[in-house]
Amino acid sequence: MRLVSTRDASAAQHSYTDVLLSGLAPDGGLYTPEEYPKVTLDELRALKGASYETVAFVIKQKLVGDAIPSVELRSLVDSTYIEPAFANEKGQVTPVTDVGRNLKLQNLSLGPTASFKDMAMQLLGREMDYELARRKDSLTILGATSGDTGSAAEAAFKGLGSVELFMLSPEVGMSAFQRAQMGALSGGNIRNISIRGRFDDCQDLVKAVKQDSEFAALGAVNSINWGRISSQVPYYFSGYLQAVKEVGEEVDFVVPSGNFGNVFSGYVAKRMGLPIRRLVVATNENNVLSRLMQTGVYAQKEAVITSSPSMDISKASNYERLAFDLFGRDATKLSAYMHEFNTTGLVSFLDHGLSVEAFLALGFESGSSTHEERIRTIQDIYKDTGIVIDPHTADGVCVAKKRDIQEVPVICLATALPVKFEETIREALGFVPERPARFVGLEEEMKQGSFITMDADVEALKSQLRA
Ligand SMILES: *Cc1c(COP(=O)(O)O)cnc(C)c1O
Repeated sequence: MRLVSTRDASAAQHSYTDVLLSGLAPDGGLYTPEEYPKVTLDELRALKGASYETVAFVIKQKLVGDAIPSVELRSLVDSTYIEPAFANEKGQVTPVTDVGRNLKLQNLSLGPTASFKDMAMQLLGREMDYELARRKDSLTILGATSGDTGSAAEAAFKGLGSVELFMLSPEVGMSAFQRAQMGALSGGNIRNISIRGRFDDCQDLVKAVKQDSEFAALGAVNSINWGRISSQVPYYFSGYLQAVKEVGEEVDFVVPSGNFGNVFSGYVAKRMGLPIRRLVVATNENNVLSRLMQTGVYAQKEAVITSSPSMDISKASNYERLAFDLFGRDATKLSAYMHEFNTTGLVSFLDHGLSVEAFLALGFESGSSTHEERIRTIQDIYKDTGIVIDPHTADGVCVAKKRDIQEVPVICLATALPVKFEETIREALGFVPERPARFVGLEEEMKQGSFITMDADVEALKSQLRA
């Protein structure tokens, strides 16, 4: 199991652990498997009824190869998906629940910070710590968050002696709960920097700092890190195994999407042999991805702040990994395509020899929702099932309901708990969702000075990092 950069025509190979610690490839590309490993239907059958840890270990092992010995990997996985970090419901770490005819929810948000990002981040922290200890090394990480990545990363890295984490977040846009979560985790090896700007400004700052050779070795925890993508693949297997009667039947997944990380993991699962018929990419008003899939035109658009803020993006970093496959893994063609997008903010399939049918051929569909539609979806699901879903999950369910009734199980990924977005839930249902015990009194834990506030200024940020 080796990885290549999407922009490297020589296809030099890298190990899982090298890639884990580095983030973007030096040529600006993203690391992706040289070949997708395969899972047979017999192997899948053997996993039916298995614990989440077992499914996660079997799938991760295929994606890690011999870069981490099996015994070590097994113990990293086993120590990740257990209580108290992951509240285990009905014996499942990612339980699937029926919410309509052939419509199911897979809850991915039982981790410490109540979003699906914990699923990968908790394992990523352990894998990085393991590898850094083996190398007798340490790592400084600079990340950017629109809300959920920040707390998920901080919860995963808090207290690790091998890692120092700086997290940039926009001064406005995050929910009060998200800000309080990060505030409560600050201190020690965790530093929060609040940027006077948008999420895109934070992301641009991270890129700009890393272009300076002095800071080139900074690690990454956003979803361009292959460690995160690979740790999201197992829950597609777990969801599938819970949803089907017989292994071999097909299912659809609907995925609330922003940076295209989550749904790309689903695509990897499909390429590994999981019987997924369609991967439905659901976006909010920031519909860059759904327009791309419907028109073949990838056009950057300034993000607007919505009620599903973790999906408020102007471009989708992980799409490059899919585009690499769309171009038949031709790094030269892919580089030309991405270069045009990165310099002009707009690129069309027409000019690069592709057609929009290419998405469907790989199993992709897409749709989007508005704020009003999400509110109505939260109301409908609550009326029908008594379940309160969060606005990101509502985006996926709304897109699923706009399709005709399907003949196969449709699994909507529930990417956050509603408690993170109390204002929107109150708007929809007239009450705020009950808080799991671990979040009661969160705001009071927020210490004075838990955020340093700065302008979106590269030089100022560099000085802060040096200090
Ligand atoms: C991050 C996030 C998303 C978007 O996931 P991507 O991997 O960026 O597509 C969706 N919902 C929630 C709640 C998130 O935190």
